[in-house]
This record gives sequence, C-alpha cells and structure tokens, in this order.
Amino acid sequence: MRLTRYFLPVLKETPSEAKIVSHRLMLRAGMIKQSAAGIYSWLPLGFKVLRKLENIVHEEQQRAGHIPMLMPTLQSADLWKESGRYDAYGPEMLRIRDRHDRDILYGPTNEELITDIFRSYVGSYKDLPKTLYHIQWKFRDEVRPRFGVMRGREFLMKDGYNFDIDREAAMHAYNRHLVTYLRTYERMGLKAIPMRADSGPIGGEDTHEFLVLADTGESEVFYDAAITDLALGDREVDFDSVEQCRDIFDEFTTHYARTDETHDPAVFDAVPQERRRTARGIEVGQIFYFGTKYSEAMNARVQGPDGKPVPVHMGSHGIGVSRLLGAIIEASHDDKGIIWPEGVTPFHVGIVNLKQGDAEADAACEAIYASVTAVGLDALYDDRNERAGGKFARMDLIGLPWRITVGPRGLANGVVELTNRRTGESEELPPEEAVKKLH
Ligand code: ATP
Ligand code: MG
Ligand code: MG
Ligand code: MG
Repeated sequence: MRLTRYFLPVLKETPSEAKIVSHRLMLRAGMIKQSAAGIYSWLPLGFKVLRKLENIVHEEQQRAGHIPMLMPTLQSADLWKESGRYDAYGPEMLRIRDRHDRDILYGPTNEELITDIFRSYVGSYKDLPKTLYHIQWKFRDEVRPRFGVMRGREFLMKDGYNFDIDREAAMHAYNRHLVTYLRTYERMGLKAIPMRADSGPIGGEDTHEFLVLADTGESEVFYDAAITDLALGDREVDFDSVEQCRDIFDEFTTHYARTDETHDPAVFDAVPQERRRTARGIEVGQIFYFGTKYSEAMNARVQGPDGKPVPVHMGSHGIGVSRLLGAIIEASHDDKGIIWPEGVTPFHVGIVNLKQGDAEADAACEAIYASVTAVGLDALYDDRNERAGGKFARMDLIGLPWRITVGPRGLANGVVELTNRRTGESEELPPEEAVKKLH
C-alpha cells in the first residue's frame, strides 16, 4: 500500500477523552472513530488488525475440529423467554420492538439461539460431539463503556458452543478449548493466563477466564508467579486425545491463579511468599461448562445409546476479538507508539523514502516494495513529499515491526537502513539483503 493512496487519518493531538494508552494510540493512529458511546467505526488500519485476529481465531478453532458458522446479531425474544433469561439478563440487553410490536434484541451472547438450532436438527447421540462457533458482533448496554474498544457496547466476539452426551465428554471439549485459547493468544504475542473465575449470568460452575496482565486491567487477580513461565509453544496437539488435552489443562491450571471473585486467601497463602503476586488483568476470553442448564430449559435432548432421551451437556467459550486489540497495545507499546507483534501487524514493513522525487530513491523504493510484495508480505510505502522526521514519527506511531529507510546517501554506497521497531536497532544493508531479513 502506498501511503498517498491509503486512508490513515493520524491525529496530531492526543485526544483528551482517552484515559488509557491503547485507546489513545488507537485514536491517534487512525484505527477507530467513535460513532456513539462505546460504538466504533473500524478505520482501515484498525480493520486490518481486527481481520488478522479473526483469522488466527478461525485457524485455531478449526485446527481443533470446531465448526464455523454465522448467526444473526438480532434475535427473537421468544427463545430468551423460554430459557428464562429475558427478564434475568437485565439492562445490559438492548431490547428492540419491530413495526409489528414483536420483541427482538441485539444478542449479547448466543446460548439460546444455538441451542434452538441444535435441537431443530440433532436427535441422536451418534451425531455428537459437535462444537459450533461464530465470530459476530455483540451488543451489551454497558453502564460505563470506556477505554475504547476494551469495554465497548458493540463489540466483536468469538463464541463457541459444545454439545456432548455427558459431563465427561463435555469436559474434554472444555479442555480442548483451553488448549486452543492458549495457542490463539500466544500467536498474538500475548501472555494470557487461565484463571479460575466466576460464571456470572451464563451460569455453571466450571469456568476459567484468560487474563492479560496490565495495570489498566479492570480485574484484580492473584497468582503464583510460576504460571508466567508456562508456554504451549508449537508442540503437536492431538485434539481428539482426551488424555493430552487434560494433561495440558492440568499443566496450566495447577498453579494458583484466580480472579477476585474466586480468590481464597487461605489457599493463596500456601504459595511460597516470593512467588505470590497480586496484579491487574484484562479479561480476553472465558470458557464455561454449564451442563444441562440450557438443554433442560429448552428441551434439547438426544436419544442415548439405550434409546432414552437425555439432555445434552453444553459449554460456551468466548474470545473478545475487538477487546484484544486494546489488550495487545496495552502489552506492547512505548512512548512513541504501538509495537505490533509480528503475528498481528497490519503491515510487516514500512518503507520510508527520504527524498521523494529523487529518481534513484524513488526507483529503489519501488523495487523494494515489489520484492516485499513478491514474497507475500505487506508493505506500507510512505511516498509522501514530507520531511524525514514526520515520516519516522508516523511509522513509530503505527508500530510496524520493521522499517526500511531509503535515501540518496545510502544508495550511493549501495545500502538502505533496516530498523527494528521493538529494539530500535538499525543496520545498513544492500536492499535485497534487507528484504531477505524480513522473512
Ligand atoms: P467483562 O467481565 O469484561 O464485562 P464478561 O465476563 O461480561 O466481560 P463474557 O460474557 O465472558 O464477558 O464474554 C466473552 C469475552 O468477550 C470476554 O472475555 C471479553 O474479552 C469480551 N467482552 C465482554 N464484554 C465486552 C465489552 N463490553 N467490550 C469488549 N469486549 C467484551
Ligand atoms: Mg460483562
Ligand atoms: Mg467477566
Ligand atoms: Mg467473562
């Protein structure tokens, strides 16, 4: 992409309404624009990152055999009356009446809708297990929408639902989700710690939240520092293996790690003093097993092996896709701007032409742009007729992991400059060597 043809409305001033760094940087870097309280347009740069996060989520869900689909944002109130949640959910639910005076709502979550789909088509234990998921906009009329996309009212969530014959099978689905989430967050360059949590209005007893540690996080958390050394890495996982998924679950949930709702000082005190940590965290996902809560209420039964109908055991599993943008920036920035982890960056490299209009510099930039594109990477070429300082500041603000700087003086010696955004280190290299280092 050439900057002169792109739409990147960078702000010079720091917007005063933004209280935390990720919100400030997303506004300044022209990634989002507020449309109403807690409701945002995703400008091209923000949209590009959002799509990357969605792709990672899709890949990791499908790797585990979970099936993508799409449910609507608007739902009939009838299903929620059936489950008993229409009244129970409270003022966070956006209730709408259509021209025929029918009650509809903008879905805050989808347990009812997916259970209705399931019961309409599935009748036998032989069709289980199944896990269906989608990535769709949700609406929750939060009392205090704040921190930009971190606590929006309209936000993008991946929500998945497992249907299993009994508790044991459903717990395998639970463990499987934990493993997929670990990999998902790691690919985004994040350390997200699974913590024992409280289930809230979804219901059920078994639940873990995934938290990214950050001072601006809204949750208070308590954990054993040993848990921060764990990583899934690129180990091979057989998602059909009950044992392997359980082992990974055990590995990541044995150390003490809880949110304030489930925190137990007596148990925490057993953790060696030097490893006890109290911190703040951002909730970027949550997994639940709630058994037959919805299948009983909504009569979602299958015929068991003995011919008798049994309610299916279910769980639901959410990832805050749009909130993750904020969480990644909270975890990865400096005073100049964002520092994107390689796996989610909107462009891999920025090309800065120090002397736009100089025939040799222009030609060198075009050649680098073409060879970066040829190896399947995305380049943002700053081809504006601007001073070098302004170009560097913009690249630093939007946080691309690499910058290639091209100018007549370097070119006279056959070199360009390759700079790493995270370390700030630069080296001079022939253009083709610089491109090679990017992949
Ligand atoms: P929170 O405690 O932050 O209100 P939640 O527990 O109500 O979140 P869940 O029902 O667990 O949310 O939804 C799954 C995920 O969706 C959350 O882990 C979070 O990452 C994301 N999420 C929830 N509410 C919002 C919101 N208002 N804005 C952006 N993301 C959200
Ligand atoms: Mg909430
Ligand atoms: Mg929560
Ligand atoms: Mg939650």
